[in-house]
Amino acid sequence: MKITLKPLHIFLLLLCAIALILLFTKLLTKEAATPKGTDSEATPDEEEYQALRYAMAERARQQFDLKNTDVLRAVQTIPRHLFVPEALRDLVYSDAALPIGFGQTISAPYMVAWMTEELELQPGERVLEIGTGSGYQAAVLAELGYAEVYSMEIIPELAERAAATLNDLGYQGLRLRQGDGYFGWEEYAPFDAIIVTAAPDHLPAPLVQQLAEGGRMLIPIGPTGGYQTMWKFRKEGGQIKAYNLGGVVFVPLVSEGEPQPLQVPTPD
Ligand code: SAH
Repeated sequence: MKITLKPLHIFLLLLCAIALILLFTKLLTKEAATPKGTDSEATPDEEEYQALRYAMAERARQQFDLKNTDVLRAVQTIPRHLFVPEALRDLVYSDAALPIGFGQTISAPYMVAWMTEELELQPGERVLEIGTGSGYQAAVLAELGYAEVYSMEIIPELAERAAATLNDLGYQGLRLRQGDGYFGWEEYAPFDAIIVTAAPDHLPAPLVQQLAEGGRMLIPIGPTGGYQTMWKFRKEGGQIKAYNLGGVVFVPLVSEGEPQPLQVPTPD
């Protein structure tokens, strides 16, 4: 059988050849652009992160007997890996605190969940966090969806970075401020709940003053570099009731605040 190539056939063959050349070039450049050992499977995708997050929330729930489903949902939802330096992303769904720069840490996930539950937040309440750090704890408070969230951070670079992270994730309702949280945030006081995520060696009087009647405060108190005690304070009838929740380890609260004794009425 004799095959005669008509101009149309030649044209079609040429087209096929060009398509093949283009395909090979694309494949080759893709291979060259991918550094050895880092194919796309090395970076967990959102689905894998979500599975890790669910497991992390479940471990926290079991170990701390957590009951608040809003808090657990927040921990399951928030992409915690976006709150740490890129190099640490693969570790962020473990049960550990991790460095975030400037000698500071993002608290362990179970600690965030447990403290948030202990705040006993009700819809419409106002909560103040001291120590924004990475912004993760603030995101958990905001993700509850029913509290007004205020958060203060003393290190300007961390305050800026947390603001950017929270903004990128769409948490725009919360109020952030760079400054010394020892003195609280007078302008928006009183607060129904105060959560302090750095440890002072005494209870800061301004925070007690800015706690609303019926308000709860979670605060680790103790010496730098050792164990501290997690205290839960409740203001009832103008009195402060204290509950010892056990030993914890936090970075120190750094403050210009002078130790101020709680105001005790002076006898006539
Ligand atoms: N809640 C944070 C973890 C905080 S680590 C998170 O979810 O990532 C404690 C933070 O408290 C640090 O960022 C530290 O800079 C900050 N801090 C220490 N002393 C402070 C002070 N006096 N006022 C405000 N923030 C303070």
